[in-house]
Amino acid sequence: MESPAKILLKNANVLIDGLPELQQSSDVLVADERIVAVSRTPVSCDDAKILDIGGRTLMPGLIDAHAHITGLSLTPRNASYPPAEIAVAAGDYMRSSLMDGFTTIREAGGADHSIARLLAERKIVGPRLFYSGRALTQTGGGADFRTPDEVDDPCGQPGPLSIMSVIADGVSEVRKAAREELRRGASQLKVFVSGGVVFPSEAHPTIYEYSLDELRAIVEEAQSRGTYVMAHAYTDESVRRCLLAGVRSIEHANFVSEETVAMMADSRVYLDLTFISLVQRIESAPATGLPEGIVENLKKTVGKGRQVYQWAKSYGVPLALGTDLWGFEARKSQLGELEMRIGLDSPADIIRSATRINAELLNQQGKLGAIAPDAYADLLIVDGDPLSDLTVVTNPQQHLKLVMKGGIVYKNDL
Ligand SMILES: [Zn+2]
Repeated sequence: MESPAKILLKNANVLIDGLPELQQSSDVLVADERIVAVSRTPVSCDDAKILDIGGRTLMPGLIDAHAHITGLSLTPRNASYPPAEIAVAAGDYMRSSLMDGFTTIREAGGADHSIARLLAERKIVGPRLFYSGRALTQTGGGADFRTPDEVDDPCGQPGPLSIMSVIADGVSEVRKAAREELRRGASQLKVFVSGGVVFPSEAHPTIYEYSLDELRAIVEEAQSRGTYVMAHAYTDESVRRCLLAGVRSIEHANFVSEETVAMMADSRVYLDLTFISLVQRIESAPATGLPEGIVENLKKTVGKGRQVYQWAKSYGVPLALGTDLWGFEARKSQLGELEMRIGLDSPADIIRSATRINAELLNQQGKLGAIAPDAYADLLIVDGDPLSDLTVVTNPQQHLKLVMKGGIVYKNDL
C-alpha cells in the first residue's frame, strides 16, 4: 500500500471537467498527496516512480454525498447488533467503497470522530470521510426510531443504539445538540426535517419537522464553525422551510413541486436525490420481507424523484450524487446510483455530479473531484471511455485498474 513520494503517470487519457472529450496522451505528476502537473507534453521527473497508463482513462475518484457506514440493516436502530459487529461492518463498508472507486464519502448520520481518527491513522482503509455524527431529529421525527411502547430515547443513549441520531426539541436543546456534534468534530450537521418513506415507523408521517426558529438555530451553529447543514426532507413544505432557514444541502426532496424546485435554484442549494437507496430496497424486498405497502410507496417515490430530477436540470439546481444505502449487502449497490441516472442525464453530467459538484457541496472545490494542479491525488484509472460508456465506471471488476487516494495506491491491476 505504501507509495513513493512522487509518481509520474504517463500516457493517460485524462477526464477533465468541462472538456467534451478526454484529454489524450497526457502525463500527470503526483508529489506526496497532491497532483502537481497535468500536461499534454511529456513531463520528466528523475526521482519519480513511473507508471505507464497505456492510453487508459485517468479520472477523479468518486464522491458519495450521502452514505451511512454504521448501518447493518434497514432499521437504523441497530438494536440487535453488538458494537463490535457494527465497527467491523463499518470497516468493511469503508474498504469496499474505496475499492469500488469512491475516494470520498459524506456520512449522513452514524460515523463519528473515532472512525475518522482510525482512518487518519491508517488503521482502517477507506475513502476520505466527512461525517455528521448523530443526526438531529425532533420527538416523533424522521429519525426517532422508538416504537409507541418505548418512552426512553434509544437513540440518545450511549452504545450501539446511539450512533445514528439524537432527539432534541426546542431552540436551546437543538443548539446544544448541534454544538455537541460540532464539538466532536462533525464536518457538517445532519437534520431530519420530514419523515422518511422507508423506515417501518408506526408514527404518522409528518408534513414538516422542526420550527423555523429551531432550524435557523441549527444553521447558525453550523455557520459559527464555518460549516453547513444537510437536511433529510421529502415534502414540499419541509424543503421550503430549509430554504428559509439557510440549509445548504437538500437530501431526497422527492415530493417537491416545480415551483419549489425553481426556489431551490434561486437559493443555490444542492439537491441530492439518492435513487439507489429506494431501488435497492424494492429489489431486495423479497429477501428482506419489506411490507408490500412500503414497496408501493417506494416505487411512487422513485417516479416522483425522476420528475424532480428533470425539473432540477431545467432550472439549474446543482445535482449532487449520494446513495443512502444501509448495510453491507446494500452497499454493493453504491455504484448503482450512477446507473439510475442513465436516461435522465449524460455520462459527463452524471460523473460531474459525483466529482466536481459533490466537491463544491463539501466546500472542497479544486481540492477534490478534479484532475488539476493542487488537487488531492484522488484518482482512478479505468479501461475505456466513461464519457461514452458509463459502465466503464459502474463495473469496477472489469474496468477499474487503479485506485489512488492522497497519492497512495490502494489498488493496482495495471
Ligand atoms: Zn440517509
